Amino acid sequence: MASRNTVQQRVIAQQLMELGNHPTADEVYRAVRRQLPSVSKATVYRTLNKLVHLGEATCVIAGLGAERFDHRTDEHCHVVCMKCGTVQDVSEGVFNDGVDHADAAAACGYEIVGHDLVFEGICPACQRA
Ligand SMILES: [Zn+2]
Ligand SMILES: [Zn+2]
Repeated sequence: MASRNTVQQRVIAQQLMELGNHPTADEVYRAVRRQLPSVSKATVYRTLNKLVHLGEATCVIAGLGAERFDHRTDEHCHVVCMKCGTVQDVSEGVFNDGVDHADAAAACGYEIVGHDLVFEGICPACQRA
């Protein structure tokens, strides 16, 4: 029988996938609670971070807003709306060539393992408003 932790982790990963568009931990918590009414906010937060460490999710830090979680783990760019805080994917591959890990390594002395590119702008809905 699956342990309670395994069940929680599976439900949380599944809700992250279904919510799709870069939910905050709070949004994941509200969705998970519908299936697991007794789950605590701390458990959801801890499990989301565990999924990130396991490489089964990624964490997007967009501007000054809350951390967002992403079920996609391939390298892709994000754009954040400065008005409403929406975070979306930018079509993949288009901008990755402009980021040179060797240049970054030379500049800071780190061994570079990845990068996170976040564009900032005003989303179409906010432009219309
Ligand atoms: Zn917006
Ligand atoms: Zn994404």
